[in-house]
Amino acid sequence: MTTQPDQAHTTVRHRPSITRTLGDLGEGEAWVYQVRCTCAMPVFESHYRFKADDRYRHHLESEATVDPSERCRDPKHHKVAGWDVCALCADQLPLF
Ligand SMILES: [Zn+2]
Ligand SMILES: [Zn+2]
Repeated sequence: MTTQPDQAHTTVRHRPSITRTLGDLGEGEAWVYQVRCTCAMPVFESHYRFKADDRYRHHLESEATVDPSERCRDPKHHKVAGWDVCALCADQLPLF
């Protein structure tokens, strides 16, 4: 027997990743870094690792917006990023 919590709304989770593949973006064949996420963000492609890193950071800092009430209230102890949804906190009743 498992009990399913009521899904009042859908939570978008962000698990961005950078992958490297050989490709040609118009400058000849070279490593192509691709940034994609489990959300609906468009795949970002660049020949430059630092641009992929920038995109990755920008996504987490500016675009991966989680409703404040769903963010972890104790990221250090729960070992999740401050911007992320926390399963431990989500199981608790909201404090406000
Ligand atoms: Zn995302
Ligand atoms: Zn938490």
